Amino acid sequence: MSAPDRLVCRPQEPAELLIRGAHVLDPRAGLDAPHDVLVRAGEIAELGDPGTLEAPAGAEVIDGAGRHLFPGFVDPHVHLRTPGQEHKEDLDSGTRSAAAGGFVAVVAMPNTDPTVDCAPVLRSLREAARREARVPVGFLASVTRGLQGDALTEMAELRGDGALGFTDDGKPVYRAAMLRRALQYQRLCGGVLALHEEDPSLSGNGVMHEGEVSARLGLGGIPSISESTMIARDAAIAGYEGGRIHIQHLSARESVAAVAEAKARGVRITAEASPHHLTLTDAAVPVALDTRLKMNPPLRSEDDRQAIIGGLLDGTIDCVATDHAPHAREEKEVPWEEAPMGTTGLETAFAALYTELVLPGVLGLGLVVEKLTAGGALFDLPVPQIAVGRPADLCLADLAAEWEVGEAGYESRSENCCFAGRRLRGRVLATVAAGAVAYRQRTFSVVGAA
Ligand SMILES: [Zn+2]
Repeated sequence: MSAPDRLVCRPQEPAELLIRGAHVLDPRAGLDAPHDVLVRAGEIAELGDPGTLEAPAGAEVIDGAGRHLFPGFVDPHVHLRTPGQEHKEDLDSGTRSAAAGGFVAVVAMPNTDPTVDCAPVLRSLREAARREARVPVGFLASVTRGLQGDALTEMAELRGDGALGFTDDGKPVYRAAMLRRALQYQRLCGGVLALHEEDPSLSGNGVMHEGEVSARLGLGGIPSISESTMIARDAAIAGYEGGRIHIQHLSARESVAAVAEAKARGVRITAEASPHHLTLTDAAVPVALDTRLKMNPPLRSEDDRQAIIGGLLDGTIDCVATDHAPHAREEKEVPWEEAPMGTTGLETAFAALYTELVLPGVLGLGLVVEKLTAGGALFDLPVPQIAVGRPADLCLADLAAEWEVGEAGYESRSENCCFAGRRLRGRVLATVAAGAVAYRQRTFSVVGAA
């Protein structure tokens, strides 16, 4: 059986463009200086000193002076809500949102309605993506049927039909024996198991991080150990079976320690962190009880946030993932306790990290770019790189641009963004995904055609 294309996208016209004089920053390619970048037929054809490359006839010329050019970002954790909840998001709006955030590929979660737990659902979803997706999309299938935790899906068949891997995201794989069986099947069919770590017997009906703030507000808490104890358990099972696991959205200090410990023991484990857990804490919750700040795992303490930052710096955390989770306005406009969990994040990921962590000197810009581009590697996808002969996967950004989140609306169908109303620095101007222009910011003008 030949492997199907793991990422799918609608057919697009390959880009012909010359980006002149942008500051090219690609840590993996060792680039950190102004260059001309020539894209021909969707491929990076030439790199040159600023002002040295000529635009071929018909190519578009983009003035990159004063702007930054990064390899395009890859998000290993988004909810596109289709099939079944298209009032929140769909393939078109979700991938437009991704492109507007500089993402050139995304990985969609299977907790849809119906669940992506059998070949027909996966096949029709991939077919729809071939018609609608503006940037390449990969799909995870669920580990258990209907996310119920009782019976494994036909993992081998789903892999054969293009599943990148498996997850019950939104829920943990609660029964240890079920995870063990899934890891045994993984040996036969490949595909990483991505794990939402939460022990429901500890998180219960909690609606925010368990700590001083939840106590003060009298709200039910979700303790850090509901996440970290499951990570420790699952890392032990993965180590025993020689399996490969990826831990989704780390939120707590204890969780970072559990992943670090497992890595040190040689367990094949990777981990992601979200821009909101890296930049916000539960201290923001009481200010307005704004339900856009309600997500799972919840915003935790400043100490937890510092530990997540430390995990990015020391390599315990492999990549940034947004966990983009759209909800309709009326679903979120209810009392805190009743609101669904989740925040959108694709359009704000880069600016939030740049404003809150790079500008104050907490993280280097190169590290942020590296972690925003690393997500595909977890699923054995190629990592975007600015190098001659590679497909053009590019993000052009203006680091000086300041904007207010939500002021001009969103490309996403939903507006439940936890950064809404904040003034952020750094704006994505254009995105080239898999060789085609996928996004241009409305006010961004190009120099013209050659
Ligand atoms: Zn999750």
